[in-house]
Amino acid sequence: MEGFHYRDGVLHVDALPVPPIVGEAGTPCWVYSGAKIRERYAALDSALRRALGDHSFRIAFACKANGNLAILRLLHTLGAGADIVSGGELRRAMAAGMPPSHVIFSGVGKSVQDIASALRCGIGQINVESAEELAQIISIAEDLRLSARIALRINPDVDAGTHAKITTGKSDNKFGIPVQAAESLWRKAHASRFVEPVGLSLHIGSQIMEPGPFAQAFEVLASTAKALDAQSVDVGGGLGVAYREHDRPLDLDTYCGLIRDRLGPLKVPIILEPGRFLVAEAGALLTRVLYIKKGLGKQYLILDAGMNDLLRPALYDAWHPIWPVMRPHDAEGELPFDIVGPVCETGDTFGIGRRLKTPVAPGDLMAVLCAGAYGAVMSSTYNARPLAPEVLVDGTRKATVRAAQTIEDLLAQDAVPDWLS
Ligand SMILES: *Cc1c(COP(=O)(O)O)cnc(C)c1O
Repeated sequence: MEGFHYRDGVLHVDALPVPPIVGEAGTPCWVYSGAKIRERYAALDSALRRALGDHSFRIAFACKANGNLAILRLLHTLGAGADIVSGGELRRAMAAGMPPSHVIFSGVGKSVQDIASALRCGIGQINVESAEELAQIISIAEDLRLSARIALRINPDVDAGTHAKITTGKSDNKFGIPVQAAESLWRKAHASRFVEPVGLSLHIGSQIMEPGPFAQAFEVLASTAKALDAQSVDVGGGLGVAYREHDRPLDLDTYCGLIRDRLGPLKVPIILEPGRFLVAEAGALLTRVLYIKKGLGKQYLILDAGMNDLLRPALYDAWHPIWPVMRPHDAEGELPFDIVGPVCETGDTFGIGRRLKTPVAPGDLMAVLCAGAYGAVMSSTYNARPLAPEVLVDGTRKATVRAAQTIEDLLAQDAVPDWLS
């Protein structure tokens, strides 16, 4: 059994019960299911094989969704490369053993140092987001006398129909190059001896649940790739997952069928950059109830995890399932709770009016599910709260894959100048 599920009323991750894991790691802590990541990867990989036959494709995991070395290593063993957005993520991908040739560098603001390190290590592809960045890459590649394989990230001007803060493919978003400008940049890239324009890419947003936006975007990608005779196409990420019971994610065969129908005829390798899809459901934030506070006409469940640990609800109004680790044996009934963290912000709220089986008591363990993507990677130390540890379970095996940060670690990074000491 993979992922998070109850067995005899106790939450398990893969084959292991959650309480002893949390007993060791303390709360809050992150727990990942290796088996779930394997299952998601296999599902995508096999749907692509079904749709594409022997047409060549590559999966480059978007590391920004979860950059833990153990997770990157696991995905690498399954065959994934990486999509990175910083020099730091390049180091992570390489430390996880991924060959640089399987790494794609995305992002609107690549620094000179990051571009230079990417070229020095022989990165597979840099996805260029502007004329200014192309000029920068040409100049760095010529200085270093190193070849740069680039793709142009086009902005297809489609509405992904997702939350405004994770929409990236509209013409008024900061991402990508307008299709009309692609041809002249393509020629510019060709004109440099050190730049090899290999393909086109796009990424229209995240948590996309409908086929329409993908179909429109792939259409634009196909026609532009044809016009420029691009040698590969990169469809980005964006596949949505079910956070709520009534969420209906896009069926994988439908998604892969769109890729085949729109991009198959080009007969060039296809690259995918899934992030959330591969890891979201594989992670949970485990936390303990500190207090049950009676407010005016409502009850607050105050957890020891906060928005500094999991930012998504505060940042995107994201909805996460919140389950008790131990289901009450003989539930008395159900009551609504506002489930909040300890951080001094009203936005530090994980759920409003969530119905939980009673009794619920201080000391109870709760699991905030579907937190494997854009969870630990977005954590901060706001309110001087150290970063929580991460544990990977993989079937019957278990390991701490990031040690708990301590308050001493935090203090050690600050310094008081001598005129104040
Ligand atoms: C964030 C991002 C992805 C991954 O998006 P998901 O919605 O997590 O699949 C892929 N490509 C690029 C360029 C990104 O910025």
